[in-house]
Amino acid sequence: MNSERYSRQAMVPEFSGDGQQKLEDASVLIIGASSIGSTLMFNLASAGVGTIGVADHNIVGPANLNAPIHFEEDLGTLKVLSATRKLKAYNSMINVIPHATAINKDNAYEIISQYDIVVLAVNNPQTAMLVNEACVELGKPFVHGKTNGFVGTAGFILPHETPCLACFYGKELPPEDNYGSVSGVSSTIAALMSTSVLQYLLDAPVAMKGKLFIYNCEDATIEKIDLTHRHDCDICGPKSDFEDEEDFDFDEEDV
Ligand SMILES: [Zn+2]
Repeated sequence: MNSERYSRQAMVPEFSGDGQQKLEDASVLIIGASSIGSTLMFNLASAGVGTIGVADHNIVGPANLNAPIHFEEDLGTLKVLSATRKLKAYNSMINVIPHATAINKDNAYEIISQYDIVVLAVNNPQTAMLVNEACVELGKPFVHGKTNGFVGTAGFILPHETPCLACFYGKELPPEDNYGSVSGVSSTIAALMSTSVLQYLLDAPVAMKGKLFIYNCEDATIEKIDLTHRHDCDICGPKSDFEDEEDFDFDEEDV
């Protein structure tokens, strides 16, 4: 069934040859089973990523029904169990591993170290910076994304090659946005993020690497910004530690 199942994406050169096997051999940890995370996990399950871990400690409430992976019948269920059930029903050939816990200082390194790449799909600034720190120290690539009303952002960080989240936000925690979630915006951000994950796993160029994509539905634009390494970054160290000595400019350009 698998060769026919993935036949449409196999028409794309990057997925042909051993591309599908690369995906089946890969493992991705998704932190956050809400709107962005749930759309994204469907995309990865659809593509046949072999192992998908889902980390979330919350229970499905009515407000979570804006995430397409949670149904009314899941109210009161752990979000990771709701997500695991749907993903297994959608693609029985993949492994889905639930982590019914908040990512914290005690477990972040142990959980993240089990996966090839991490998806950060939470708005919580403390969690975002903890995941950034753990991924940089463990050398794990990670994709981050969030939305704020009609605006969404997404980026791809490759530790010691691109600037990290702390380079972008400095010593302050990023702001905790509270302007609500619009499912269409979340789906678009999830699509950008999941495509980056697949490009990385397929050894294809990752368009979002070292950049921040800003999707703005209010004026129908997508911008990309090259992130700049912060020389006094406490997380990824001085620039001399970087493999890539190329300067990261702060030029903006339309895409
Ligand atoms: Zn940094």
